[in-house]
Amino acid sequence: MTLRIGCIADDFTGGTDVAAAFRRAGLRTALVFGVPDTETPLPDDCDAAVIALKSRSTAAGEAVDDSLAAQRWLWSKGAAQIYFKYCSTFDSTPKGNIGPVTDALLDAAGARLTLACPASPPNGRTVYQGHLFVHDQLLSDSPLRHHPLNPMTDPSLPRLLAAQTPHRVGLIALPTVRAGVDAVREALLTHERDGVRHVIADALDDDDLAVLGAAALELPVVTGAAGLAEGLGRAYPASGTTAAEPLPTGGRSAVLAGSCSARTLEQIAQFYAAGLPSLHLDVLAAAAGRDVVAEALDWYDAQDPELPVLIYASASPDELTAVQQQLGVGEAAAQVEGLLGALAVHLVDRGLRRLLVAGGETSGAVTTVLNIRTVLVAEEADPGVPWTRTTTRGRDLALMLKSGNFGAPDLCVRALEETR
Ligand code: ADP
Repeated sequence: MTLRIGCIADDFTGGTDVAAAFRRAGLRTALVFGVPDTETPLPDDCDAAVIALKSRSTAAGEAVDDSLAAQRWLWSKGAAQIYFKYCSTFDSTPKGNIGPVTDALLDAAGARLTLACPASPPNGRTVYQGHLFVHDQLLSDSPLRHHPLNPMTDPSLPRLLAAQTPHRVGLIALPTVRAGVDAVREALLTHERDGVRHVIADALDDDDLAVLGAAALELPVVTGAAGLAEGLGRAYPASGTTAAEPLPTGGRSAVLAGSCSARTLEQIAQFYAAGLPSLHLDVLAAAAGRDVVAEALDWYDAQDPELPVLIYASASPDELTAVQQQLGVGEAAAQVEGLLGALAVHLVDRGLRRLLVAGGETSGAVTTVLNIRTVLVAEEADPGVPWTRTTTRGRDLALMLKSGNFGAPDLCVRALEETR
């Protein structure tokens, strides 16, 4: 058993993002969907295991319970350190869930102090004097101040966290981080002596995060976004399993898209422009009783098996509104998930070996219907969008799950052409 680091991510795409970060750091990484149980598999020789929960915006009590269950499972698999991954914009409210979950993880671990840094420099998220920046703006001046669930109107991380925990919150400012690993360790000890439990650290770039990762190596619980996870991963002694994760070869390739995000619509347009076969699913016809799945399978069987295909429900904003007005938002979503889920099962049974799923909710629906609980993370096609390897319905499958707005406009073409 080699598991070094167990990670709990507070949402699905955050799980993929942090798993890709551990993989970039050279760790063999598994990604598990939902609170695992005794049946949930963990591949041998993993250095890191990431559990993707949906605990960002649930009630704090539920988020705590799920996170503690995930921590117990990770410990049972041998994890020596727990990393709690949340959004690089610190998505939370005074009720939580970052503070309550972190406190519960610390209590369970019997740990006195943790290091926290949500910086994610490639995405323009930096921390200076404890203040969170989104590119050149303070968090509170950025569009995140209008976030529908967790509006972020205060840029001060110590203040945001202090509202979510009864414990003391402290800061390690940039000059100490720039002074190096020993200086950060010294500062952590000082904070511990002073009774501080949550230590926020400044970080402007990946070098700062590497210093913080090395200084935090012995802490039982560390928290942050994907940036500090990568810093931590790089601080672990080389695992010797950094060779590329092999993906299944042969068989057919497909994209199933349910996202209506602007970037996914661009990716669909590029797939079409590349002259590759694509099929739009008629959601209203399906709701009216037409066997849209059977029609799509006839179409699929008639395509050149050498070429990747795209099957999509994704709609332009106008079309989406029209369908939602006619069916209701819930029924429209259920139709889309039903169609794409059924197609995923049929395509795998027909020998599909590479599947790219576009859309966060859509990915959840497809993994559920394929009963996929665990995947192994392979190489990234784009930042935060890795290929993964899994087994479903008795077959090996290369699977890419992407949130709607992730990936370059040519992702679908490139990812499926490259792996052929
Ligand atoms: P993203 O990651 O871009 O948010 P999701 O898969 O999470 O993508 O969400 C896309 C939503 O759009 C889903 O709820 C899906 O059911 C809905 N949807 C997709 N295509 C259609 C369509 N043609 N008509 C109505 N709703 C649709």
